[in-house]
Amino acid sequence: MKTIRKPATMTQAMVALRHAGASVGLAPTLGRLHEGHLSLIKKARRDNDTVVVSIFVNPLQFKAKAYKAYPRDLEADIKLLNSAGVDFLFAPGPEQMYPEGFDSRVEVIDLAGKLEGKSIRWHYRGVTTVVAKLFNIIRPDRAYFGRKDAHQLALIRKMVADLNFPVKIIAGPTIRARDGLAHSSRNTLLTPEERMAAAAIPKALLAIEPKARGGGDRTALTRELVTMLTAEPLIKVDFAAVVDAETLDPSVMGGNTLIHVAVFIGGKRLTDNRLVVSHGVDGSKPASR
Ligand code: AMP
Repeated sequence: MKTIRKPATMTQAMVALRHAGASVGLAPTLGRLHEGHLSLIKKARRDNDTVVVSIFVNPLQFKAKAYKAYPRDLEADIKLLNSAGVDFLFAPGPEQMYPEGFDSRVEVIDLAGKLEGKSIRWHYRGVTTVVAKLFNIIRPDRAYFGRKDAHQLALIRKMVADLNFPVKIIAGPTIRARDGLAHSSRNTLLTPEERMAAAAIPKALLAIEPKARGGGDRTALTRELVTMLTAEPLIKVDFAAVVDAETLDPSVMGGNTLIHVAVFIGGKRLTDNRLVVSHGVDGSKPASR
C-alpha cells in the first residue's frame, strides 16, 4: 500500500490510474479503524480495480476539545489497511487540506437542519466540505459510506446529486459487536462500565423497531425510546427521533422509517440508528438493518 500525504500527489496518482482505465473506490474515514470501516473497504475491494482509503480527522467537523480527544492510531490502521488489500492510503495533515487562507465551505441547506442538525449545522458543513474536497482530490468512481451515520449518508447523496459529482455513493450496513453496540472509533474512549451501559442503545432501538414497522405513532415511540434509554443511569439522551428515512422528516409517512438516537455516556457522544425497511433500499428485500 502506498501512503500519500499531499493532495496534488494523490490527484496525480489517480489521474494516471484512471488514464490506464482502472476504476477507483474510495472509503473516507477518520481513522482508528474497526470492523465497520473494514466492511466498507471489503465492498470497495470487490467493486473496483483500485481502493483508496482516506484517514483525516477533519478539524472543520469538531469542536477543539473533541478534535484533540479523537482517538488516533495510524500505525495500527496502516497494518489493517495492508491486510485488507488497500492500494492507497490518503492521510493528509490539516495544513495540507486547509492551508493558510482557506475560505470555502460546501453546505446542504435544508436536509442538514433535520434531526439534531439545527444545533450541529456547523458539523455537517465541515463534513460536506471535506468530502467534496476528497472527491475532487481523488476523483473516485464509487465512494463508500456506512448507514451507521444515516444523516451524513443522506447529506452526501444530496450533495452529489445537487452538485453533479461524478461519483456513485454506495451504502454499507451497520456492523455491530456481539452485544449489538455499533462499532465506533469512539467506543475505545469508554470505560468498561460505560461500555456495558452502551449496550442499552441497540437494545432500545431493537425494542422500538417492530412498533415502528407496525406504523406506531412516532411521537409516542420517540418518548418510549427516551424512557428506555434513560433507564440506564450512565446514559444522557441528546436527541432521539423516529422519522421518514429519506427526508428525515417525522411528518412524512409511507416510506421507510429511521429510528435515530444520539446519547452521551461519560461525555462521549455515541449515535446509532435502525432503518425499518418497508419499500426496499438499493434493491434489497424489505428487512431491517
Ligand atoms: P468514521 O471514521 O467514523 O467517520 O467512519 C467512516 C465511515 O465508516 C463512515 O461512512 C461511517 O458511516 C462508516 N462506519 C462507521 N462505523 C460503522 C459501523 N459500525 N458499521 C458500518 N459503517 C460504519
